[in-house]
Amino acid sequence: MRQIEFIAENEGVDPDFIINGVKNGTIVILNGGRPCGVGKGLRTKVNANIGTSPQRISIKEELKKLSQAIFSGADTIMDLSVGGNITKIRRMLMDDCNLPFGTVPIYQAAKSCGRPEKITLSAILETIEEQAEDGVNFMTIHAGITSNLLDIAEKRKMPVVSRGGSIIWAWMRKNKKENPLYENFDKVLKIAKKYDLCLSLGDSLRPGCLADATDEAQIGELINLGDLASIAREAGVSVMIEGPGHLPLHHIEANVKMAKKITHDAPLYLLGPLVTDIAPGYDHITSAIGGALASWAGADFICYVTPTEHLGLPKEDDVKLGVIAAKIAAHAGDIAKGIQRERQQDDKMAEARANLNWKEQGDIAIDPTKFWGTDGKEPCSMCGNYCVFKTVPPKKA
Ligand code: SF4
Repeated sequence: MRQIEFIAENEGVDPDFIINGVKNGTIVILNGGRPCGVGKGLRTKVNANIGTSPQRISIKEELKKLSQAIFSGADTIMDLSVGGNITKIRRMLMDDCNLPFGTVPIYQAAKSCGRPEKITLSAILETIEEQAEDGVNFMTIHAGITSNLLDIAEKRKMPVVSRGGSIIWAWMRKNKKENPLYENFDKVLKIAKKYDLCLSLGDSLRPGCLADATDEAQIGELINLGDLASIAREAGVSVMIEGPGHLPLHHIEANVKMAKKITHDAPLYLLGPLVTDIAPGYDHITSAIGGALASWAGADFICYVTPTEHLGLPKEDDVKLGVIAAKIAAHAGDIAKGIQRERQQDDKMAEARANLNWKEQGDIAIDPTKFWGTDGKEPCSMCGNYCVFKTVPPKKA
């Protein structure tokens, strides 16, 4: 109950609003040192992905990225490590993280089995249980990609761009069997229930380019995710739905509304969406444009995208840019959604700006570091004595 009160206080809503949302599946609670609620009527949350690659394995670097993500204002962290000792890296990151912590267990299972097609159901379930025992709060589970969708997705420009999804795809093709996570979803639910774990139902067939957006494969998987969400709710396990990906601007609203309808208003967690494919180096911007519109349309949770998306593993500075861009998108969406507490920040900023109150502007700003190092002097060098707020000062309230 204290956790619900903490979340309600942070959101500026009544605790009963959270309790009812959790009961009907429109809100999930992500546990952790600083728990947060994700879902209908709440502020849009931002996740930051960190983690090693096989080419870059530095726990020191990942700890720096973690600390930067927390400092920059991420609401949650996901460890997507695929290089080095994944268990050791996860535990070290969790020791330093006070935010809800998520993982993608299929990565560790694939690594422990050697090759994707050699994964066994028991390796997957053991990995999920090991990570849950460690205190992981939410996990991406690629249960929605089924064998009937592979032939459809094969016709795409990019058949599959989800790393976890490609592992399950390879396993199904090689073993000529159905997705083990789909067929044994009840076993996953049993572990989730035992550890009060939130499942994030992964969209293995999210579009990886505009040409594949809103296609049959994507929608086919979404329908599966809707069914799985209903099964999870009946079992008393909280679920979020993951969504695209790459979508042109004019597809975003329809995609969010369709996902909400098909999943009976389950919290929607989007990666991006990136609204164009041609801006590598700037995909924190392409995704922030999509994220703002998605949040406005009803998305509840945005996974950041860094400037190095499609180019390489992000560094600490990229993590900062990714979190700040996603926070701007989430905030812009929240204003349009009518989240009052968020909107008030803009009014406070307008007053502080008109009063040339630099300290307060820094306190309100999404990135306060832009106001650091001015030693109380006016940091703006744009207009000097022609500053409009000096020429025509605002009336005192
Ligand atoms: S100096 Fe110019 S840009 Fe800077 S705060 Fe004043 S009006 Fe705005």
